[in-house]
Amino acid sequence: MRLILLGPPGCGKGTQAALLAEYLKIPTISTGEMFRAAVHHGTELGQRAAEFMNRGELVPDELTVGLLEERISQKDCAQGFLLDGFPRTLGQAEALKGMLQDMSIALDVVVDIALEDEVIIGRLCDRRVCADCGKTYHLVASPPKGEGVCDECGGKVIQRSDDRPDTVRNRLEVYRTQTEPLIGYYRRQGLLKDVDGHGGMDEVQSRIREVLVS
Ligand code: AMP
Repeated sequence: MRLILLGPPGCGKGTQAALLAEYLKIPTISTGEMFRAAVHHGTELGQRAAEFMNRGELVPDELTVGLLEERISQKDCAQGFLLDGFPRTLGQAEALKGMLQDMSIALDVVVDIALEDEVIIGRLCDRRVCADCGKTYHLVASPPKGEGVCDECGGKVIQRSDDRPDTVRNRLEVYRTQTEPLIGYYRRQGLLKDVDGHGGMDEVQSRIREVLVS
């Protein structure tokens, strides 16, 4: 199965993608994770991407599309993949269409997880992540047992630089103007399934699995 998870930052896309990919036994491809890894390793791509990420802006398509193309061409994607955070612009969606056509494959479904802005802001500003293993925490709903220390690996639990309030507002604005038009784009192609993102992690995951078989 080849699918895309769409949704505003903070809608739980990353968590839902991980659960779903495990269930479907396909790899998750997160361009955000790939950029964060590049920043962490100080590569040239990472240095260029960090400028945009720290402001809550999108990394330009010319850097993003090539990265994605290289990844979906790898062997482990042959039986399917789940895209988390790509595409984010109509240009990326069109580039993806071309890539898939060249590979003689097609998308099966696009799932949009919808969530209100106030809920998003609350979730993101209180989100913390382990700098080592990437495990996600929430200061109120699911804090780490020891302050600032990851339960899983003992790594340092930090706030992502793009989860600070001003950057969050900018990311939301960027989402509404540049990414939200993709909902109509995929709906017109008959690929879109809507999912309500409110509620607990398991509840939302069940909704996603339901729409996949409907
Ligand atoms: P995410 O982890 O998906 O929220 O992505 C974190 C940041 O990485 C975004 O705010 C963007 O700056 C950048 N990014 C991730 N994916 C893309 C993409 N498909 N296009 C442009 N920028 C991206």
